[in-house]
Amino acid sequence: MVSEAGTELHTAGHNWAGNLRYAAADVLEPTTVAELQDLVAGARKLRALGSRHSFNRIADTTGTLVSLEHLEPAIEVDAANLTVTVSGGTRYGTLAAELQRQGYALHNLASLPHISVAGAVATATHGSGDRNGNLATAVAGLELVAADGGLLTLRRGEPDFDGMVVNLGALGIVSSLTLDIEPTFPVSQSVFEDLKWDQVLENFDDVTSSAYSVSLFTDWSGDRIGQAWLKSRTAPTEAIAERAGFFGGTPAKEPRHPIAGVPGTTCTQQLGVPGPWSDRLAHFRMEFTPSKGDELQSEYLVPREHAVDAIQAMRRLSSVVTPLLLVSEIRTMAADSLWLSPNYGTDSVGLHLTWRQDQPAVEAVLPVIEAELAPFAARPHWGKLFDGDAFRLAPLYPRFADFKVLADRLDPERKFRNDFLGTKVFGS
Ligand SMILES: Cc1cc2nc3c(=O)[nH]c(=O)nc-3n(C[C@H](O)[C@H](O)[C@H](O)COP(=O)(O)OP(=O)(O)OC[C@H]3O[C@@H](n4cnc5c(N)ncnc54)[C@H](O)[C@@H]3O)c2cc1C
Repeated sequence: MVSEAGTELHTAGHNWAGNLRYAAADVLEPTTVAELQDLVAGARKLRALGSRHSFNRIADTTGTLVSLEHLEPAIEVDAANLTVTVSGGTRYGTLAAELQRQGYALHNLASLPHISVAGAVATATHGSGDRNGNLATAVAGLELVAADGGLLTLRRGEPDFDGMVVNLGALGIVSSLTLDIEPTFPVSQSVFEDLKWDQVLENFDDVTSSAYSVSLFTDWSGDRIGQAWLKSRTAPTEAIAERAGFFGGTPAKEPRHPIAGVPGTTCTQQLGVPGPWSDRLAHFRMEFTPSKGDELQSEYLVPREHAVDAIQAMRRLSSVVTPLLLVSEIRTMAADSLWLSPNYGTDSVGLHLTWRQDQPAVEAVLPVIEAELAPFAARPHWGKLFDGDAFRLAPLYPRFADFKVLADRLDPERKFRNDFLGTKVFGS
């Protein structure tokens, strides 16, 4: 269907997990930035929709959703400055394949390559690695269609830039992003099984620094951790010698999936075989459903200094958490300076939960987890299910008030506000 202004129009439907139907009546799909500008200028209420992978109503609106999936595509490498500029609807999987083809790499990827760059950056989506900032830290510049339809461009280092990157869709619609890149590098991925909790917790820094990116998969019960995924940067000719053991764990003999019963063949290459970063840094392969599909997710980012205590707190909650879980993942991220990043000002450990799709039961347990993690100043992932509101979140973010001022300035008519932002950020 085509709108009066000539833009493609579809019914809004539901998010990737299927746990919510968008309140918006429809989704408009502009194909040019000029069309997008007209659309924003003329709308009373609207929001950008990425690839629909968030589990809460962060993307929703009672007005119109705007998808940039059909925006004129652009992946333009600037070899001199080592950056790439991408149009707003580009997905990481598409970008990673093209960068690899041209001999370049991003510093990191999330567990799945299916998500849009703009949507992932807006929520501070992350991968893992002690020295790796979240995906938003790669943003060197952005172009945003502001509430009046005007184009705003900002580069790293300019005033307000640090407030505009992790923007929760509240400041406008990001039409393009410029990201830092580096020469391509190989990665090899090895999985170890049944690590001992006591050995891991006694040596937590050694565990998480043992590879470029480390993920631990657990259901919090018992004295063993299900799996450790180690992604190492290696020279192409240098085969990674499999370690005989890893903190009480043994090397997996076949490809593994983090969730029991799902085939490892849907995951990126394991068993220590080196290959391009673009085929190893994510856990899940672009051509398959990532994770399980039938699921919900939550995640809490805890300052690194509290990592072991926060993990112990989660283990104490096993009797209420484990029965609802498909799996949990523990990752690490480096500190950054982006105002609403859960990694703002502190190296962090991410305590992620992939839930069975029982939303009432999950929503009942979230306040219990949040109370247990409150002493550790845990910040929830913006794109996943959490209970806390603006009143509880504000003290966790030193620049929270500045973000609200910025949003009021850029969007005086509150076109981009929705119920989620009202409850979780603006406190109204
Ligand atoms: C299976 C699965 C695995 C996941 N793994 C990870 C992981 O490894 N690490 C992690 O941190 N998270 C992970 N997530 C969460 C996911 O990365 C975030 O929810 C992310 O925001 C999804 O991006 P999206 O493109 O789907 O955005 P959407 O969910 O569509 O939107 C999210 C927000 O971005 C805004 N937005 C989207 N596009 C624009 C734009 N052009 N301009 C302005 N704002 C915009 C929206 O308005 C909304 O506020 C996972 C999710 C799933 C389903």
